[in-house]
Amino acid sequence: MKIHHIRNATALLTLGQHRLLIDPMFAKVGSMPGFKMFGGGRRRNPLVPLPEGAMEIMSQATGILVTHEHPDHFDPRALAWAKRQGLPVWAGAVDAPNLKRKGLDARELTNGALEGVASEVLLASHGRGLVGWLMGPVSGFYLAMDGEPSLYITGDTVLTKSVLDDIERLKPDVILAPAGSANFGLGRSIIFDLDELMALTRLAPGQVVFNHMEALDHCGTTRNILSERMEKEGLLEKVHIPADGQAVTLPGARQRGHVAPGRGVPNKPGLQKWVTARFAGT
Ligand SMILES: [Zn+2]
Repeated sequence: MKIHHIRNATALLTLGQHRLLIDPMFAKVGSMPGFKMFGGGRRRNPLVPLPEGAMEIMSQATGILVTHEHPDHFDPRALAWAKRQGLPVWAGAVDAPNLKRKGLDARELTNGALEGVASEVLLASHGRGLVGWLMGPVSGFYLAMDGEPSLYITGDTVLTKSVLDDIERLKPDVILAPAGSANFGLGRSIIFDLDELMALTRLAPGQVVFNHMEALDHCGTTRNILSERMEKEGLLEKVHIPADGQAVTLPGARQRGHVAPGRGVPNKPGLQKWVTARFAGT
């Protein structure tokens, strides 16, 4: 397995014969408004360009995997590119219908839909309470293929009981998680804060690859902050913190088989999706 980190949450995942482009954001520097609403320091997003050679790497994609429809995960430029390339766009049941309405070849990632890959859509919570609800639904994904490490893509989420339970049940060899600790400048973070990142890493049965850093104005946890804290707590050898454009190769299939996926969350489009699609323009 290879995770070629591009920028923010965008990565090209090599899993067997598949090349899945996760959460593509192609936006040019400063083409989106800032997300840090309070406390100063608001800057237009994204803060950094796509790394050199990104388009060639992303052009290898055999499909796209979308955790949710926020513009830092699937923006209009990437959407237009996906259409031109005619790539299938995999998503949870909560997002697939809306993506289909946008004219994409959107498909629900049910177990076995991706050839040779056992999968499960997992619950992610993009913040807590009302804020989390208003941020809209997010899907996490468990992907398990013979001969490859199993992978849990958490999506934008805070550390909920459901995330903890999924790690314990599925025992993923690799976890891909956002580490920027996005915060509007007021209240709690809307993705893992630094303490939650440490807890997540301690609980991880294998390696953790972190992304979603240093690309957006409301993501305060930088690679330096994260690696210093990991080192202090003796966890550095468990984690990968790739620079933009850097690939991480995750070796080895486990001897024993992967944990079989469960039925997944009953994550159907509902009022939450309708509200966020209507007001967030997704
Ligand atoms: Zn995000």
